Amino acid sequence: MKFNKELDAIKTYEAGKPIELVVREFGIRPEQVVKLASNENPLGTSPKVAETIRANADKAHLYPDDSMFELKDSLAKRFNVEEENIIIGAGSDQILEFVSRAKLHAGSRVLMSRVTFAMYSIYALQQGAEILRTADYRHRSEEFVPMMREHKPEVVYLCTPNNPTGDATKREEVFRIIEAADPNTLVVVDGAYMEYAADRDPDYRIDPAELLRYPNTLYLGTFSKAYGLGGMRVGYGIARPEIIRALMKMRPPFNITALSLAAAIAANEDAAFVQKSLALHRQELPRYEAYAQAHGFDYIESYTNFITWIFPEGRNASEVADGLLRRGVIVRDLSSYGMNALRITVGTPEQNDRLFEAMDEVLG
Ligand code: PMP
Repeated sequence: MKFNKELDAIKTYEAGKPIELVVREFGIRPEQVVKLASNENPLGTSPKVAETIRANADKAHLYPDDSMFELKDSLAKRFNVEEENIIIGAGSDQILEFVSRAKLHAGSRVLMSRVTFAMYSIYALQQGAEILRTADYRHRSEEFVPMMREHKPEVVYLCTPNNPTGDATKREEVFRIIEAADPNTLVVVDGAYMEYAADRDPDYRIDPAELLRYPNTLYLGTFSKAYGLGGMRVGYGIARPEIIRALMKMRPPFNITALSLAAAIAANEDAAFVQKSLALHRQELPRYEAYAQAHGFDYIESYTNFITWIFPEGRNASEVADGLLRRGVIVRDLSSYGMNALRITVGTPEQNDRLFEAMDEVLG
């Protein structure tokens, strides 16, 4: 059967391996599997959110409020913006899809970092757009600005902090890139891990309200990481109303579930849970830096809830990932990104102990 020719250029997105796979393939009991592969919140979900989901269980027959007024109102207060500045997606992923469909077509160009979130290129290729990448994985204005001037891309992706590398871009550098954009270029600032960067160093904090100074930026945030709702699939976009109105034309009705909507409202109101998650992360991240130093491999300074370990020649990241998997520890092998590296979500103290023990065994 023939499919659209654009599909030929697309490699299917490879999600982090689920616990179920390790149970099936290696016969390890589910409670013994440690999943540090998808940057979920190791503290789980806020108890208040779990309670809200239970309380809403008997409303599953009703469609959700399609205006999503309560969630938008809660986000508008948190970010000091207006409701007309907000769109909600089934994960920020869905908003990336809206962006691509609203802006890109055959012949369009999209600019992104050499190593960044894979869905930017997948959605762009679906539209037949051309992908331009910088030489560095870091987002540097020296590279972005000349490429933007030369190629006039329809969309520029700034992933800060960047996934899967974990580095972040300083505020002033982000603004330098935004200010060089052509009026027709949409600059997407993807802040999926922004809570961690802002907690680590205010020089890396991008506030969506300040992006509204610019007519052509879109900020993306998610409830999947610091807010502990990866399984509920809720993300948001913040931009000037003209951009939001265009993206709303791409949105299917009821694009998040009633339970997701209720959960996101509760999560957005529970700042204490997020603070607790950030505190745990601050405590545990240095253990990963120390482990890398003690074992002679490199790591990228992390502004996210994960760390990227880069192995020297002679130590193969895929083999290490495989060895960990056999011991019930799931991490992300970055070989498919062209890096001999592992991306590991920083877990609870006990999960991290398990990871270090398994690493000791694998390294021999
Ligand atoms: N952007 C980045 C940089 C991400 O890492 C992810 C999740 N892996 C997303 C967007 C999408 O997140 P979600 O759809 O769960 O909101």
